[in-house]
Amino acid sequence: MDLKICHLYPEVLNLYGDRGNIRCLENRLKWRGIDCTVTGVGIGSGESLKDYDLFFIGGGQDFEQEVLLEDLKRGMGNEIRSAAEDGKTFLCICGGYQMMGHYYQTHDGVKCEFLGIVDFYTEGSKTRMIGNYAFRLGEESGASTVVGFENHSGKTWLGSGVKPLGTVIKGFGNNGEDKTEGVRFRNIFGSYSHGPILPKNPELCDFILKTALERKYGSAELLPLSDGFETLAHESVLSRIVSA
Ligand code: GLN
Repeated sequence: MDLKICHLYPEVLNLYGDRGNIRCLENRLKWRGIDCTVTGVGIGSGESLKDYDLFFIGGGQDFEQEVLLEDLKRGMGNEIRSAAEDGKTFLCICGGYQMMGHYYQTHDGVKCEFLGIVDFYTEGSKTRMIGNYAFRLGEESGASTVVGFENHSGKTWLGSGVKPLGTVIKGFGNNGEDKTEGVRFRNIFGSYSHGPILPKNPELCDFILKTALERKYGSAELLPLSDGFETLAHESVLSRIVSA
């Protein structure tokens, strides 16, 4: 078994150590004897994405998101759309998450038309939503708790047929109003959680790996790892966030 991981736009979408998610995916595969390759696909590559199994897109500031628009229009947008429609697995964080929706309009009125692969839109507000936060994943994403750090001005509103990734326990999530956080659509996992999200939340990392392996091989069982240290870190951060 092996997974081909694609890190999209690593040179511009990499806030708050989002790249650490790649290390976590790689290591949790390696510790189980499963091979993987990681390829960075940057602006102007014009590469086909059809051979990849798992995609990671990190967060970026408003400026960086605007810079990407040209490249998406030049063809990368269609590559991403085809991979998503083909059931490939995506983890998309913050700015990368916003990119999968219809548009992001900054609070001063600049509108970025995005991919519209998932039915949601994002509009900037004057006050930023910043801080450590926690949410519980929906049943379809494993139902475990997730701890992370959010920093966004965009308020995301999901379409009626689209499920959130989880429900906010503490913090803002998608918009600070409806308690939704992120999105789960087909095999796309979108979240506002930086930190990076996966090392702090190994259950989610394994859920995502299993999703990608099942898509490729039909079924997949992941051997348990000794996660004592990771679980302790997760639990202590969770209790700190909840009691803050
Ligand atoms: N620029 C977007 C916002 O502020 C995304 C920020 C991010 O990726 N942290 O909403």
